[in-house]
Amino acid sequence: MSYYREDLSQYGNDFIYQVDRPSDDVRNVGWIDTTHPYNKWIPPEWFLDALYIACRHKVNLKRSYDHCRLCGALASPYPLSADRFSRKVALGDGEIRVRGQGIVHASPDLIYHYVEVHGYRPPDEFISCLQKRKYLSRAWLYKVLARLHRR
Ligand SMILES: [Zn+2]
Repeated sequence: MSYYREDLSQYGNDFIYQVDRPSDDVRNVGWIDTTHPYNKWIPPEWFLDALYIACRHKVNLKRSYDHCRLCGALASPYPLSADRFSRKVALGDGEIRVRGQGIVHASPDLIYHYVEVHGYRPPDEFISCLQKRKYLSRAWLYKVLARLHRR
């Protein structure tokens, strides 16, 4: 299976474990590689916060970690991780879902690394889905993190 998938293209059923409902309109976001150009930006902190939280709620987990296609297998620490709020979550073994109006965005959890390290800018609608969430509230975020860290 080739890793690259065009942003907002239809998500394929190429995984054994599916979390999506048949009625969901599931679209790919963030399946980037070295051969396809992508939009860049300097991500705001709230966006990385929101992605981090999403990475704490992964789906379609597998038993190994993917390397970053852009760093290359030898250059990457293994596994890669997202470090926020003095906490770490390993990346490369799952996907995240970001729900919007009538659409579900399916991304590799490595999207966190792509955004933070490689400046990948997801499509605007993906960004605004996260922006509309209460992720923006720092107080709410800390409540969620406190709950996660008690586990
Ligand atoms: Zn990388």
